[in-house]
Amino acid sequence: MKSFDVAVIGGGVLGCFAARNLMRYRLSVVLIETREDVCMEITRANSAIIYAGYDHHPGSLKASLTVRANSSFDDLSRELDVPFSRCGSLMTAYGEQGLSVLRKKLEQGQKNGIPNLRLISGDEAREIEPMLSSSVRYALYAPSTGTVNPWKLGIAAFENARANGCEILLNSPVVSLEKEGGQYRIETADKEIFSKAIINCAGRSAVNIQDMLFPPSVRIRLDGADFYVFDSRSSHPGLILFEETENGKGITAVPCTEGNLLLDSPPRPYAAEYATTSEGLSVIRKEASKLMPSLDFHNVIRSFGGIRVNPETSDGKDIRDFCIQRPEKTFWSLIGVKTPGLTCANELGTLLASDCASVLEAQQNPNFLPERKAIHCSADSPIICQCENIRKAEVQAAILRGAVTFDGIKHRTGCGMGTCQGSRCRYEIEHLLKEKERSHEGTI
Ligand SMILES: Cc1cc2nc3c(=O)[nH]c(=O)nc-3n(C[C@H](O)[C@H](O)[C@H](O)COP(=O)(O)OP(=O)(O)OC[C@H]3O[C@@H](n4cnc5c(N)ncnc54)[C@H](O)[C@@H]3O)c2cc1C
Repeated sequence: MKSFDVAVIGGGVLGCFAARNLMRYRLSVVLIETREDVCMEITRANSAIIYAGYDHHPGSLKASLTVRANSSFDDLSRELDVPFSRCGSLMTAYGEQGLSVLRKKLEQGQKNGIPNLRLISGDEAREIEPMLSSSVRYALYAPSTGTVNPWKLGIAAFENARANGCEILLNSPVVSLEKEGGQYRIETADKEIFSKAIINCAGRSAVNIQDMLFPPSVRIRLDGADFYVFDSRSSHPGLILFEETENGKGITAVPCTEGNLLLDSPPRPYAAEYATTSEGLSVIRKEASKLMPSLDFHNVIRSFGGIRVNPETSDGKDIRDFCIQRPEKTFWSLIGVKTPGLTCANELGTLLASDCASVLEAQQNPNFLPERKAIHCSADSPIICQCENIRKAEVQAAILRGAVTFDGIKHRTGCGMGTCQGSRCRYEIEHLLKEKERSHEGTI
């Protein structure tokens, strides 16, 4: 049985950043994750956007954290050595109805203090992005919007937390929580842990975790999203496009840091675990062809589904702002954190860590090192992923850093993200993973 100051439950992007920021204090911290690796749930399937902050009501936590996160993202990405592109965005409208939405966003954005936000004509928008259709009549231009690789971001925070002394428990679903002698007794599938405080970042299970100890007060509703990924060699827009249609939010197009184009559907009813729906995919095709008539769907290399969590009050009313529950002084839950959760992960982690340190009266940790280095390797190592030019040494480094599956390698290196989607490199990578497994078995 081990005892910690703080247990963070859930190793998605939010849990990883909570753990990283807790390490800024003199605290013993454990990160407990169900899966074999971090960032394998909601964080693995999102739109990768670092929002400017005009979507949220002035004065809301979402507005203030998004604006702050956006303005400091260059520093964060440098500190964690994560690819980030401040490519800008255009929110497009075809007519007067869409224009009124853009005007509202402009007003909100100006109140929220977003720099250089401008309402422009369709012609000006086409000068910025020539792929836009002639039917686009207005656009809201936000040069501060950006895109990051979500897996690399979450994994970087995880590695930084670990390097600063955070203990990690993978393959460890929390199955029960109890209060015992003023502490929390946390039972995982095969361990018992004690902690003085809990930060619950269990994504769509966060409500269940909180309900293990406290009377139910909020709930979540799931809906879904569909995505298409285009080959990095195809021609695509140079900045993020948000389509506003007569029926509300349309598709989003994101030129990713790795060079691929990502298209995502508006929210649709929840179907099945991370599965796509033909309805969602056909909405993307229809709307994308309207927004960018020259976009060639022959260049699609992958589709996948995402799960959105929507927090609600117990009587079914939407909770629009970030929902941070604090059923008692030493227990925090992030419930149903949807967009812009990726953008604000470091800010939310900073907020919770500072609250927690203050309750536990923990001092700053003078030995905290905020920097973390990504995997870089020498050009001597043979190429293993022909599509993305990833070298064998990078894969080996990813394994040493904790990747145990092909997806874990993909999330750390980009292997398998290219045109062939891993059909050429998968066999060799799985062989390297097995080799590592065997050598590990031998040392026990
Ligand atoms: C379709 C879509 C698009 C989005 N696009 C954007 C975007 O462009 N920009 C943006 O800012 N935000 C975006 N978001 C929001 C963002 O992705 C989320 O806010 C964020 O990923 C949530 O992370 P999380 O850590 O809460 O959840 P998760 O990544 O799901 O992590 C929760 C973790 O808890 C673990 N867990 C669950 N139960 C237990 C248990 N009992 N014991 C131990 N561990 C447990 C899970 O295994 C999981 O790893 C998007 C979201 C969706 C769904």
